[in-house]
Amino acid sequence: MKVCKFGGTSVASAKQIKKVVEIVKSDSSRKIVVVSAPGKRFSEDEKVTDLLITLANAALHGGDIETALENVVGRYQSIANDLELENAIEQVIRKDLERRLLTTKEDESLFIDTIKAAGEDNNAKLIAAYFNHIGILAEYACPKEAGLLVNERPARVQALPEGYEKLEKLKEAEGIVVFPGFFGYTKSDTLRTFNRGGSDITGSLVAAAVRADLYENFTDVDSVYSANPNVVGNPMAIDQMTYREMRELAYAGFSVFHDEALMPAFLRAVPVCIKNTNNPEAPGTMIVQDRDNSKQPVIGIAADDGFSTLFVEKYLMNQEVGFGRRLLQILEDECISFEHTPSGIDNMSVIIRNEYLTDENRLKIIKRIQDELQADDVHFRDMEYSMIVLVGEGMRHTKGLTARAATAIAKTESNIEMINQGSSEVSLVFGINKKDEEKIIRELYKEFFQEANLLV
Ligand code: ASP
Repeated sequence: MKVCKFGGTSVASAKQIKKVVEIVKSDSSRKIVVVSAPGKRFSEDEKVTDLLITLANAALHGGDIETALENVVGRYQSIANDLELENAIEQVIRKDLERRLLTTKEDESLFIDTIKAAGEDNNAKLIAAYFNHIGILAEYACPKEAGLLVNERPARVQALPEGYEKLEKLKEAEGIVVFPGFFGYTKSDTLRTFNRGGSDITGSLVAAAVRADLYENFTDVDSVYSANPNVVGNPMAIDQMTYREMRELAYAGFSVFHDEALMPAFLRAVPVCIKNTNNPEAPGTMIVQDRDNSKQPVIGIAADDGFSTLFVEKYLMNQEVGFGRRLLQILEDECISFEHTPSGIDNMSVIIRNEYLTDENRLKIIKRIQDELQADDVHFRDMEYSMIVLVGEGMRHTKGLTARAATAIAKTESNIEMINQGSSEVSLVFGINKKDEEKIIRELYKEFFQEANLLV
């Protein structure tokens, strides 16, 4: 039994939804279909989720609710018309949105979640209606009744595996189950959405709960590529990779698959396949437990920007018990999560994503480190950092990889600001100046992926 998830571009229009139906029809083991909200039909188009965020903000801050509501209903209306569905479905959607707009605005973030979730919820209803319209038995599954449980606020939203037992019953359905992605309910019946792109998480959760043989994640590319196609022309497609490799690549900017989506599938060893709705014949990329990495120790090169470095120096830091803990405690007090902490004997740097930093908390952090840790020097480095990540399970057993990578970077005449080899040795991270990012990726790609170098 397969669970398949279709992303926003796969369900953006009637034409795309017809492709989805063909894909589901072509394989009788495709029983559960998880859907996103309609995404972009062309590059300047707006995703329904973004239209819904505009609607929620209009309702919260006195904006033009009418226009915002019509923009959303209009998208569904045009899909329903093109699918030749009756007007009733459009009325159901309009009523649903009006009902959501009347819910409490006491907690703005929860109100926005309630509105945002309408994107996938109504799309699932519409797609289930279309299946039935063309004579294929299908039903919409409501995440609340089906048991997609999430934790309470204010903690970061995460699914609770306690819901699995109930979710497992989805496999008893007679026909196709159409399940909306992106949101779940807390035990107190509060709706919460996952982070953006979170329908991948729903798909993985449902696949894990029903112990699917395969979780197929349909998107708009034939496979995952070894480097960003916008930087490296025609990069190599990845046929097979491990969960850990995908996790590392997703963390560092591979947006094909949400980085939080792997965990449920991984924990129940459900293999994942990334496939293309527009070219379902292409085999896609399989994500599995193990792969033979002897021929290709490095599987991909990712890069992510938007990092800052906090530099702290204090003479005899290495002998001061608890220095690191107290430094990180100051960051914790500001609710800041850190990415890397490269250190020397008397200095330590903390690499932080810019989204956690404001002018205000930067000053506060510096002052506290000066006052409480009596540091000799503390400052945020004045540079836009990028992290370039080389990923591959085979790196652990291959000698000379770091030398090859560093030599490739040297050829671009760029400086390496930081090197971090994760303890698992699945990734090697280079902190570099953002301005050098693209030329470094191209050089690393040449070194590790050009045919002649593959087996070196
Ligand atoms: N519709 C949501 C978004 O645009 C979730 C998803 O598509 O996965 O982020």
